[in-house]
Amino acid sequence: MSFSTLVSDLAFRDRGPPTDLNGSAISKPSAISRNVSYARSTTSTNATSVSISGDISSQLHGGYSHPLSRAWQADRQLTKSMLIYPLFISDSPDEETLIPSLPNQHRRGLNKLIPHLAPLVRKGLRSVILFGVPTAPNTKDALGTPADDPDGPVIQTIRLLRSKFPSLFIVTDVCLCEYTSHGHCGILRDDGSLNNALSVDRISDVALAYAQAGAHCVAPSDMNDGRIKAIKLKLIEAGIAHQIVVMSYSAKFSGCLYGPFRDAAGSCPSFGDRKCYQLPPGGRGLARRAIARDIQEGADIIMVKPASSYLDIISDAKEIGRDLPVAAYQVSGEFAMIHAGAKAGVFDLKTMAFESTEGILRAGATIVVSYFTPDFLDWLEN
Ligand SMILES: [Zn+2]
Repeated sequence: MSFSTLVSDLAFRDRGPPTDLNGSAISKPSAISRNVSYARSTTSTNATSVSISGDISSQLHGGYSHPLSRAWQADRQLTKSMLIYPLFISDSPDEETLIPSLPNQHRRGLNKLIPHLAPLVRKGLRSVILFGVPTAPNTKDALGTPADDPDGPVIQTIRLLRSKFPSLFIVTDVCLCEYTSHGHCGILRDDGSLNNALSVDRISDVALAYAQAGAHCVAPSDMNDGRIKAIKLKLIEAGIAHQIVVMSYSAKFSGCLYGPFRDAAGSCPSFGDRKCYQLPPGGRGLARRAIARDIQEGADIIMVKPASSYLDIISDAKEIGRDLPVAAYQVSGEFAMIHAGAKAGVFDLKTMAFESTEGILRAGATIVVSYFTPDFLDWLEN
């Protein structure tokens, strides 16, 4: 059966038998020829309907035989504007140190940033996220004072990047762990537990300082309860809430995938761990509650971290926050694993970088914090 015959038969079948103006089936002699045609079509359609429906539903290959039609199968395709590139900023202006556990990633001082970023901006880099790394001895304290030091690495970098790359969108991670003597993400009580009220007050001060220095987006990663609301209120009070994005690390899980980051940022806790404020890996319901809470408190973007082991959480975030952009952080351990797998010959690096990132997008994210960003700027060019 030709395709055109099939279409006309199916259309005929949908319409039913020929009728007169009153809608009654025509059975007069004058309609005999059309009835014959109808009978033939019905017989033909009945005879082939099983095979037709079977054929149509089983024939998928045609839909993705071409590279472009394959790309169309994705709900969303990776673009350069989805990527945020993490930068570790040292307080030592001329430092440029390769981080052994984080392939191809460096900790850089202020003087090394522009030469590194200029070619990336030319290739289409749209956004960076800044992590300050104080390296000078005796600069850290119990309050994380260097975090919002006007002469510290983050605030200096915000000003530098705003002046050199006016179109670059600057996100600042907001936490205290890189700046506290104990390496935890807030201010501690005497017993070593987080003092939530003091921590939130301090974290929101730091966020405000970054915003006032020129950051486009502040991204609290500390996981203290209530910090999104506190940050929003301080931005409103300062009269700048209308121009600052608050991206909350809403669902940040504790686990073993942050090791290379801690090497880079020098943020390993000096005692204990972060299990009492970061989420337990099995805590899907808790993550949903944290996401809902942060949306309620005024977050503009919600983030899930890590990414590939938490695709269900990304999907939940998109469902709960369907009116918000969802970001995912492919963390240092994920990045290092992909490099290690490629080095061991398990898979091709570029193919796996795309596959893992496309999985993150498929789950629901439209923003990806990725150490692969410089690579993607080249790979997406072709
Ligand atoms: Zn932290």
